Amino acid sequence: MKVLVVDDSSSIRQIIRNNLIEIGCDLVLEAKNGLEGISLVFENNDIDFCLVDWNMPKMDGFQFLEKMRAHDDYKSIPIIMVSTESTLQRVGLAIDAGANGYIVKPFTNEVLQERLRDILEDIKLAEN
Ligand SMILES: [Mg+2]
Repeated sequence: MKVLVVDDSSSIRQIIRNNLIEIGCDLVLEAKNGLEGISLVFENNDIDFCLVDWNMPKMDGFQFLEKMRAHDDYKSIPIIMVSTESTLQRVGLAIDAGANGYIVKPFTNEVLQERLRDILEDIKLAEN
């Protein structure tokens, strides 16, 4: 599994990376804003899913989501928002724009791993 983590906080990226590795995702790419994230998607056309922060400079996670969903080659890559924005309105906006899931910050490692395992299950089911 090749996973792209997009977050402007290097410590959050590190925490997510460690949890991904713990559940068996060995290839983790990191970007610190949506623009870098899009570049990495273009350079690596085999990304299995993306975990994306909402609030970031240059290009935020919602803009990243919209760009990805508008792109013919990348519109079906699963995108999970990971954000402190926890209102139903924000979550609804992201889901309406095509997000496949939503993880609210802050999270414990246990909760994150549980959610990540669910996401992996869903991706495997969708592939079969
Ligand atoms: Mg942020």
